[in-house]
Parts: sequence; C-alpha cells; structure tokens
Amino acid sequence: MTIRDEPKVKRAPTGKAEALAKNFKMRQEMQIEVAALKEKHNIVPGLAFILIGDDPASVSYVRGKEKACEKVGLYSKGYKFDAAFQEEKLLSLIEELNHENTIHGILVQLPLPDHIDEEKVLYSIDPKKDVDGFHPVNTGKMMIGAPGFLPCTPHGIQQLLVRNDIEIEGKHVVIIGRSNIVGKPLAMILVQKKPGANATVTICHTRTKDIPAITKTADILVAAVGRPHTVNADMVKQGVVIIDVGVNRIEDKTKKKGYRLIGDVDFDEVSRKASAITPVPGGVGPMTITMLLQNTIQSAKRHAGIEK
Ligand code: NAP
Repeated sequence: MTIRDEPKVKRAPTGKAEALAKNFKMRQEMQIEVAALKEKHNIVPGLAFILIGDDPASVSYVRGKEKACEKVGLYSKGYKFDAAFQEEKLLSLIEELNHENTIHGILVQLPLPDHIDEEKVLYSIDPKKDVDGFHPVNTGKMMIGAPGFLPCTPHGIQQLLVRNDIEIEGKHVVIIGRSNIVGKPLAMILVQKKPGANATVTICHTRTKDIPAITKTADILVAAVGRPHTVNADMVKQGVVIIDVGVNRIEDKTKKKGYRLIGDVDFDEVSRKASAITPVPGGVGPMTITMLLQNTIQSAKRHAGIEK
C-alpha cells in the first residue's frame, strides 16, 4: 500500500513493523500554494505567536511552529513575554492583532500562567483569525459541519487517516480521552456526513466501564490520554489502526536530556497486531503543525476574498 503523505504511519500488515512513510508532501504542496499566492495576489499568510513564560515544552512547540512557517514561506511574528505579563496587556495585544492586516492567524500558546483567564483570552481572538480552532464560534461550526477552522490535532488525525488511504466511513472509531482539544472535536469531525468521515464513534474516559471490551471492537483506536502504556495488545483486535496522540516524558539516562518521549500506546506490543500505527514522536505531532499552517493559508485566502 502506498503512503502518500507527510505523517509517518508505520504499517505492520505482516506482524512486523515496516514501511515508514516519511515525506513532506503536504508541506511541499503548501509551499507551492504560498508562492502562488504571493505571485498572483501579493499575499503572504501571516501568523502571530504569543508565548507567555518560559515553560520548556511551550518554548519548544513555538520554535517548531515558527520553523515550519519559515520553511513553507509564511510570515510569522513572535510575541514573547515573561510569566508575569498581565492579562489586560495580553487582551489589548490580541485586539491589535485582530485588526492587523498582515496577520491572518493568532496563536496563543497554552497553557497560560494561572493569573490569566485562558477562556477570556481565547474568546477574545477574532474567530476569523482563530487558526487553532478553539473559539466557540468555530467549535459550533465544526459541530454542524459548516466552514470555519477545525482544531489542528483532530483535523490532522483525520488527514493522516485519509492521506494514508485508511477507510473511515462505516468504521468503528474508539477514542480514549474527551478533552476539548482532541477527543471531543475528533468525534465531531469523524461523525460528520461527509467524505473522510461517516464513522461510528465511541468516546471513553475515566468513568467508562470496561474500556478493553470497547476498544476490542475498534477498527480505529485513538489514544489521547496522556498516560504511558494505556493501550496494550490485549485491548485491541488484530488489524486495528492505532493513532497515538499521547506525548509522555519518561526518564531515560541514556539520553542527553535525561528523558525520552513515548505515547499512550505500548508500541512494541500493539504494533504486532495493528495494521497501521503512528509513532511517538513523529506521528500526530508534525501533522498538527501542518494543519496550523493550512488554517493560516486558508485564513489569508478568506481575508482576501479568494476562498469562503
Ligand atoms: P487531557 O485534557 O488531560 O485529557 C485526557 C483525557 O484522558 C480525559 O478525558 C481523561 O478522562 C482521559 N483519561 C485519563 N486517564 C484515563 C484512563 N486511565 N482511562 C480512560 N481515560 C482516561 O489531555 P489532552 O489535552 O487531550 O492530551 C492528551 C495527550 O495528547 C497528552 O499526552 C498530550 O500531551 C497529547 N497531545 C498531543 C498533541 C500533538 O499534537 N501531538 C496535541 C494535543 C495533545 P476524564 O475526562 O474522565 O478526566
């Protein structure tokens, strides 16, 4: 089976992990599109990053997103402040950016320090520049299947399945985790009456009874929990497709940093039964960034009246 796209999905059809898909096709397509927008319409999609504090994970996420913007040809501007930055000042910066013509997307890196009301901040972003897709206007549009901005991680998961020719229609998708940024929106996206969706979706969480009985019926199993080894081989059926969203740091003295990243799924065990499985790192993470870039390009086109 050919794997055409950027996300890495490890195929394990024979029980042996094989065929790592590694490509940058989607970002290459975007690079071409961005160059054409500049040439034909003199538009450069622009993305503003706001980072408060110096949480190492947040700093590294923002750096990764900035680099990706640069590679694809997007304009990006970083606004970085120390952890004591006041909410009021943040809200007035967002208000300014809402009216700034060179900026088509505004990303506030989460989590925010405790003294800042996250909800208030996210709701202050113009929904037309909400490229993270967290504003309730976009959440509502997602639910009814209207055009807006889809949140990047669940949208990336859908694209990852579609672009790897993994059938979603009619399949039972089980999602472990019901967060507002992964589990719930993913269920909304995959249940739509649309191509690349039409799934039957079950969401599991900490109050779900007998999770293994449910996960064993999954054709596609998504783990978005934030706990290593949540999914083991006894919990899945032969041939299942596994999407591992979890990013967990575990101590590893052999690494320079003293830790390594693993997902929520016991990769070695489960990949023997799975027909496809995403690795951590390198699976859902890069795809999330790709969808952020795509949303920003789409926003620039909408602002220019090129696209609805
Ligand atoms: P979250 O807000 O902490 O939600 C975790 C969910 O998992 C909750 O719904 C929780 O249930 C459920 N859960 C926890 N323990 C469970 C258990 N033992 N059995 C069943 N359900 C359980 O997490 P999140 O923001 O969705 O993130 C999940 C993971 O994905 C994290 O590791 C995060 O770092 C990663 N992530 C990765 C990306 C990426 O781009 N790669 C993006 C976003 C998140 P309750 O609701 O009942 O508490």
